[in-house]
Order: sequence, then structure tokens, then C-alpha cells
Amino acid sequence: MNKPRISFTGGEPCVHPKFTELLEYAKPKVTWINVTTNGTRTAEYYQSILDNYLNHIVFSLHFEYDWKKVLETIIRAVNSSVNKNALVHVMMLPGLLNDVHDACRRLLNGNIKYSLRPIRWTKKHDDFEDMNRYNEEEKKFLKIQNHNPPHNTLIDKTKTCNVNDMLILKTNKFKGWLCNAGLESLMINWDGDVHRATCRVGGSLGNIYNGTFQFPIDPIVCTREWCTCAADINLTKIKNENTQNNL
Ligand code: SF4
Repeated sequence: MNKPRISFTGGEPCVHPKFTELLEYAKPKVTWINVTTNGTRTAEYYQSILDNYLNHIVFSLHFEYDWKKVLETIIRAVNSSVNKNALVHVMMLPGLLNDVHDACRRLLNGNIKYSLRPIRWTKKHDDFEDMNRYNEEEKKFLKIQNHNPPHNTLIDKTKTCNVNDMLILKTNKFKGWLCNAGLESLMINWDGDVHRATCRVGGSLGNIYNGTFQFPIDPIVCTREWCTCAADINLTKIKNENTQNNL
């Protein structure tokens, strides 16, 4: 089996007291490490993990908190790192468009890649209703904003697109498709429970602590209305009329 890729998300992985040791342990065992963080550790901390362990880092910039301080940390961390493979998810909170504009301008000036992200509040099939919380001006900004991360998802074997654009344009709909969740990805919860992907379609695959986990060997038929997590959207999916008609 090829060495896997691993992504640490949360919650907030960087508050774990032994997180650096965990990265050191994982590094020789995987081909690629990503961390998604809220940017609340110091610039020196991020510079150190970027240059010593990570292939990629995602900073989620939240506007509920002191976002200017966090943004300053992000810009300092990326500017002082040799590894500049960083992306900022600008978590667009409704009602704060001026702050969002300001943050995007600072990121552009700092030459740091960013992408606007609509906020998800709900956790069920109606996730997409969250878009109704934005006013027309905010929706327009989400749509016209140039995302500068590269395209990372292949659609219909020909078109490439960025996951964030798919969320905004509502093309993330794969109910009835065959999906490689579980073959290309696994999601391991804090308690050791394993699912194919963050969507949890197909239910638990067992637990790594009690020895019940079993690797899946087949793709799964998607049963969700929307595929809403960026980590899930770029998994391989194949349109299949037989499986679609059976749902
Ligand atoms: S929600 Fe997304 S990742 Fe999950 S099964 Fe459906 S298409 Fe695959």
C-alpha cells in the first residue's frame, strides 16, 4: 500500500500539548501532512511546524474573535517560513462584509493565498440552507471574489474546479453517485471511531482502539443531498444511473 496522506483538523489540533510529537511521529509514515488551525498559536510556533513537518497548512480566519491579531500572526508566520504552502480560509460571517473586504485586501497585499468560505451552521442534509443567511451583496461577493488557490477537483473527467467555487456555485451534489470515500480517505474521530469521510455516509467502520476497525474495499453510494466538506468534495466520484435510480 502507498504511504497515505494525513490531515489534522479539529476542533483545534494545535492546542494538543503533544501535537509537535505527533507530527514528528507521523512524518516518516506519510507522504503529505496538512494541518487546519484557527491561527491562535504564535507566529513562531506556526513557522516551526511549517518548516519542520508540514507540507501544507490551512488557517481558518474567524471574524467572531480578534481576527486582526490572528491575521497578523498568519502573515508573520508565512512570511518567516521557508515553506509558503499556506492557504487562509476567510470564514465569511454574515453582516461583516467590511471586515471581510479588509481581511482579503491585507491577504492580497501579503501575497498569501486565500479563499472565501460560507459558514455552515447546520449539520444535516439541509446544510445548504445556510446560504440564505447572507444578504444579496454578500452572496455576490462570495460569487465574484477571485479565489487564488489552484483548481483541485476534477469534475466529469474533464473540467477542473476549486472546491470552494463548487460550494458557492452549488455543484457539490452527488446523491446516488459512487464515491471513493473510505478508499481515498478515512476520518478518525478523537475517540478512535473511524468513518469513510467527514460526511459519515455508511456509518462507523469500527474503532482503532478496540480493534474493530476494518478497511472498506468498495466505493459507497452517496446518500446525502449535499457534499459539504472541502475534504470530501475532492474525493473521486463516479456518476452511475443504476445507483441513482435505486435511491
Ligand atoms: S457526501 Fe461527499 S464524500 Fe460523502 S459519500 Fe457523498 S459524495 Fe462521497
